[in-house]
Amino acid sequence: MGQKGELTPFFNYYLVVYRGDIMELYNSVSEILNVGNHRERILNNMNIYTIKDLIEYFPRGYEDRSNIRKISDLVVGEFNTFIGSVARSAENTTAKRLIITNVKIKDETGKVNVVWFNQPYMKDVLKSGCKYIFTGKYKKDFNKSEVVSPEYEKVTDENNCLSGGRITPVYVLTFGISQKILRSIIKDTLDKTYMKFYDFIPFEIRKKYHLCERGFAITNIHFPQNNESFFIARHRLVFEEFFMMQLALLKMKVTLKTNKKGIALKNDYSDIIIKNIPFSLTNAQKKVFDEVKKDMFSNKPMNRLIQGDVGSGKTIVAVMAAFINIKNGFQSVLMVPTEVLATQHFEVFNKIFSSLGIKTVLITGSLTKKKKQETTKEILNGDAQMVIGTHAVIQDDIKFKNLSLVITDEQHRFGVRQRSILSEKGNNPHILVMTATPIPRTLALILYGDLDISIIDELPPGRQKIDTRAVTSSYHERVYNFIKKEIDKGHQAYIICPMIDENEKLDIQAAITYTNTIKEETFFNYKVECLHGRMKPKEKQIIMDKFVSGEIDILVSTTVIEVGINVPNATIMLIENAERFGLAQLHQLRGRVGRGSEQSYCILICDSKNNIAKQRMKVMKNSCDGFEISEMDLKLRGPGEFFGTRQHGLPELKIANIYKDMPILKEAQEAANEVINDKKNKILSKEEDEILSKEIINIIKPESISI
Ligand code: ADP
Ligand code: MG
Repeated sequence: MGQKGELTPFFNYYLVVYRGDIMELYNSVSEILNVGNHRERILNNMNIYTIKDLIEYFPRGYEDRSNIRKISDLVVGEFNTFIGSVARSAENTTAKRLIITNVKIKDETGKVNVVWFNQPYMKDVLKSGCKYIFTGKYKKDFNKSEVVSPEYEKVTDENNCLSGGRITPVYVLTFGISQKILRSIIKDTLDKTYMKFYDFIPFEIRKKYHLCERGFAITNIHFPQNNESFFIARHRLVFEEFFMMQLALLKMKVTLKTNKKGIALKNDYSDIIIKNIPFSLTNAQKKVFDEVKKDMFSNKPMNRLIQGDVGSGKTIVAVMAAFINIKNGFQSVLMVPTEVLATQHFEVFNKIFSSLGIKTVLITGSLTKKKKQETTKEILNGDAQMVIGTHAVIQDDIKFKNLSLVITDEQHRFGVRQRSILSEKGNNPHILVMTATPIPRTLALILYGDLDISIIDELPPGRQKIDTRAVTSSYHERVYNFIKKEIDKGHQAYIICPMIDENEKLDIQAAITYTNTIKEETFFNYKVECLHGRMKPKEKQIIMDKFVSGEIDILVSTTVIEVGINVPNATIMLIENAERFGLAQLHQLRGRVGRGSEQSYCILICDSKNNIAKQRMKVMKNSCDGFEISEMDLKLRGPGEFFGTRQHGLPELKIANIYKDMPILKEAQEAANEVINDKKNKILSKEEDEILSKEIINIIKPESISI
């Protein structure tokens, strides 16, 4: 980005004029008047770091306060917006331990009392003789009438108030900031910034799809002039969001497809590996493996996503792909999000590969220095043919001799950027990513638009439907008895602990307390252990090893329960506070049981009377199909939350609603294709193309992985 004050050729894109200064859209919010250190920190908590973040912090909703009433017309029982001046200075009185601040407000039609409770400072806030705009509920009983704790704002220009006389934005807030303050910071920025932002959507596309300009859209999404301009603004911004995301994905796909020559494998060793797998493949696994092979034998790098429900058997497809790649003389790498999962995969691969003369190594953060050095050397000199690890494998010091296949498991836990760092360690290697996130097809297209998709749509034979029940907590004792019975049959159990408003620290505390309680009161004859996210990888590993070997009967865990963990002997899962989880998450959790041929159970404890919660439980009871469940999830709670989990390695959508805005998505996709195929720069000038490319890079931010 250019230096402050320096005019770049793309004036409108980078620079906005503010307070007579020139500043960049990507400058810190702290440059805005009224944003000091304290507010900056609060804004940062809301993920607002730059001016751009601020103006793109779209309202959660709106209140139509365009109708300003006269005091004589206030409607009892309703929220009213009115303008008036302070008729008599405020007074504080005390009644029943309440401090009541009373202010008389008047306009030319009458007077009304405005009151606040236990906010004595309000007394000095409203100044005698000054005009204010209020919005609040008007109550009337006996001979008393008053407006209680209204929102208020000092009026300087009656036609240009923020809190009333218009459709008023309502933002998602965080502790320490009010609607009033955020509104005024945003309005101030919009008013004073030079609102000719560079328009990311090319003119031709805007014309074709009837989209308004960016400046109009941004202004009207915060402070709509009227309903119509709100819809025009929203349509444009939804389109933009989809369009940019599609462009980013398509660009990646095109670069991968056209520019690069991959390593085409020569010999097919499938027969050998298939003979060494302890079961026969399902048809779905065969089909997907064929698709993978086809890619690997072509001279374009493979770029494929394998999507398969929990337990569908994705690992073995990775084993086979890695095998034929290694037999052709190259190295393969598998990256997974957690150490426990890395170790589990290492064991699966090593068991099969060691008998076939292939050396498998494990790279995680908790290797000793010596072991790490040794392994790093083996990777560099090619002795290590199969490398399995956590994100430790993308560190700089890990270099491969001839890497040509990069696999990531549980892709939704990684960012796009991490995947690409890993592939840069090879020479245009084949890329295979695996995920169990059950994304409806329509959404997969958006999230993984840069990948070809294979689906394992069949479970290994002999699997039984997981018997799922939803009960209230009054059933705890019965449920615990049932768990005992299962354990007495030689099986194991998971208990997923209460989730406390997504506060990890409290959750961990709750899990530990829970574990101690059931150990003492119920399961004293059984071996119970707790697993949570704050444990050291080594500690986790010890517990997981014990669970795998059957030494532990019940594993109590917070929601960080390892993705991908495979312990087929565990046949029962109890989920506390099931109403706090999304359907997709419940399905993922439940997928830890039912991985063998034994009948498995999942018991959801849910005390919520909420209708949606009840419906969710019903969906879980009735369906074991991840795709169906995720469709239902979208319907029940909307994609905002679905995507809000930040688990896809792609940015959260700020305004678009994938479910409701599907028609706009289709248009945006079409438009993105037009731009990508615009080889002769008819739609985009060269400069515009450059700007857009830069912006796209900003979209694919590096995501942190949670370990
Ligand atoms: P996921 O797709 O969730 O990663 P895994 O690859 O861990 O599933 O497989 C789940 C379990 O199913 C493992 O115990 C695995 O050995 C077993 N499995 C996979 N494929 C088959 C098959 N074709 N026949 C029988 N068991 C299989
Ligand atoms: Mg898996």
